[in-house]
Amino acid sequence: MVNIIEELVEYSKLAWDRGLTESTGGNMSVRIDKNTIYITPHSSIKHFLTPKDIIKITLDDKVIEGVGKPSSERKMHFLIYKERPDVNCVFHAHPTYATAFAVSGKKIPFNMLPEAILLLKKISYLPYRMAGTQEFADVFKPELKAGKDVFILQNHGVTVIGENIKKTYEKLETLEFVAKVFVEANKLGDVHEIPQKEVYEYVEKISEDK
Ligand code: 13P
Ligand code: ZN
Repeated sequence: MVNIIEELVEYSKLAWDRGLTESTGGNMSVRIDKNTIYITPHSSIKHFLTPKDIIKITLDDKVIEGVGKPSSERKMHFLIYKERPDVNCVFHAHPTYATAFAVSGKKIPFNMLPEAILLLKKISYLPYRMAGTQEFADVFKPELKAGKDVFILQNHGVTVIGENIKKTYEKLETLEFVAKVFVEANKLGDVHEIPQKEVYEYVEKISEDK
């Protein structure tokens, strides 16, 4: 069985390899108990991550294991875990198309693909704050309380949160897919929407399937 550190490394690498984050951008973490997480190191190219690079740290910023410097965005990770006991994984990334939306200030339409309907129901657009600061972390607070789990960060990138690593990764990849399809469809010149009635029916069907 793959242990949780290996799983975090594998999915972080996958995100980098699939272009869901670039260069040293992005950081990922997983919760192992109420007050402790594993997090990726500062300034790491995720393709080259190994389990020994991962840092064990408490939500009050005490390093327990690991030699490197923990991610500079750890205040955001800490705040998310403190505000949301249901969350066990945080992925912050800079995917090209979703980040293009973050830069343009435009919203990703939700009624264009079934995947988007589900995912974007819980999307939140957050204002620009300097990366790594407490102010940057604090803008998440009201939206976390409102149950949001996909965040587009103005002029920066995205953060997605979830109950485990796989489900959180899926949100990141689907978010980028939806953003990319919309941009490409616009280039073709026409974007059709799923009718509102169908959107409601789909949401209802999915809730029943659960
Ligand atoms: P770290 O390299 O410190 O994790 O930061 C990357 C990043 O995405 C900053 O916003
Ligand atoms: Zn970032």
